[in-house]
Amino acid sequence: MGNLEEETKRILKENKLYANKKLGQNFLIKDEIIEKIICEATVNQSDLIIEIGPGIGALTKALLEKAGRVVCIELDDNMIPILMNRFGTNQKFELIHQDVLKVNLKNLIIDQKKNYKFNNVKVVANLPYYITTPIIMKLLEEKLEIQSITVMVQKEVAQRLTAKPGDEYTGTITYAIYYYTQPRVIVHVQKESFIPSPEVDSAVIQLNLLEKPRVKVTNELLFFKVIKSAFMQKRKTLVNALDSSKLIEKQKLQGLLNKIGLDEKIRGEKMTIEDFAKLVELIDENVKK
Ligand code: SAM
Repeated sequence: MGNLEEETKRILKENKLYANKKLGQNFLIKDEIIEKIICEATVNQSDLIIEIGPGIGALTKALLEKAGRVVCIELDDNMIPILMNRFGTNQKFELIHQDVLKVNLKNLIIDQKKNYKFNNVKVVANLPYYITTPIIMKLLEEKLEIQSITVMVQKEVAQRLTAKPGDEYTGTITYAIYYYTQPRVIVHVQKESFIPSPEVDSAVIQLNLLEKPRVKVTNELLFFKVIKSAFMQKRKTLVNALDSSKLIEKQKLQGLLNKIGLDEKIRGEKMTIEDFAKLVELIDENVKK
């Protein structure tokens, strides 16, 4: 048994705790995976790290050794005394006991900036899998001043999150991620690297935030609405999918697709992000008329 595995079992036993499945608790027990996460996120003294779901603190401990400051957000009441016991006296450590989806992250970063000096803000986490997508969408849509997001997610989710739009694993979120970031898979992680073992393997991915979105879009709301509608009915052609969503009339849309040189029978999943950007500019002009 490795050191981290022993330590995790000991802490859980001493506190008479079991992993809470409903909260997506799978504790990392492999030191080498933690080292890899820290190394690939290039965690250093000039970083403010936001860790989502620290659990009993396996990743937190390593983050505190390398980062300038670590702010953790944990929902589970049971984890709070354990974390405070372990790291409460460390000046670099701060714990927010809340649901991450309810935390105002923009204000959190502003407050940290007022009181501490750092160059970059990075999110590093072994995410609770039941809310992977809402967490990532929150981090992107709130247009936070963060440099990178390095997170553990389920392996199949990792494929969708890091796919290039138009590729095999494309989904709505693929476009959002590709719009805001440069994504990559860092390492695949076997289910045995956690206690308890989740049902599927995992992967660590990194999303590096772009200075400006990858394509120029005037109406972001409409852009994502069109993409979402296209993927709600993936098997349909784009024209039929958007017709059901009542965003634009069938014939008008066919005309716009012709205008940008796309086949009228194209399906949304075959469209690149540039295709969607061009099409949405035209739809927007059309709607305004
Ligand atoms: N970081 C620890 C590790 O790597 O061993 C634990 C990771 S575990 C996969 C996910 C953690 O997220 C758990 O500690 C769980 O309690 C916490 N969590 C679940 N839902 C949450 C939420 N809505 N907001 C904040 N933390 C949450």
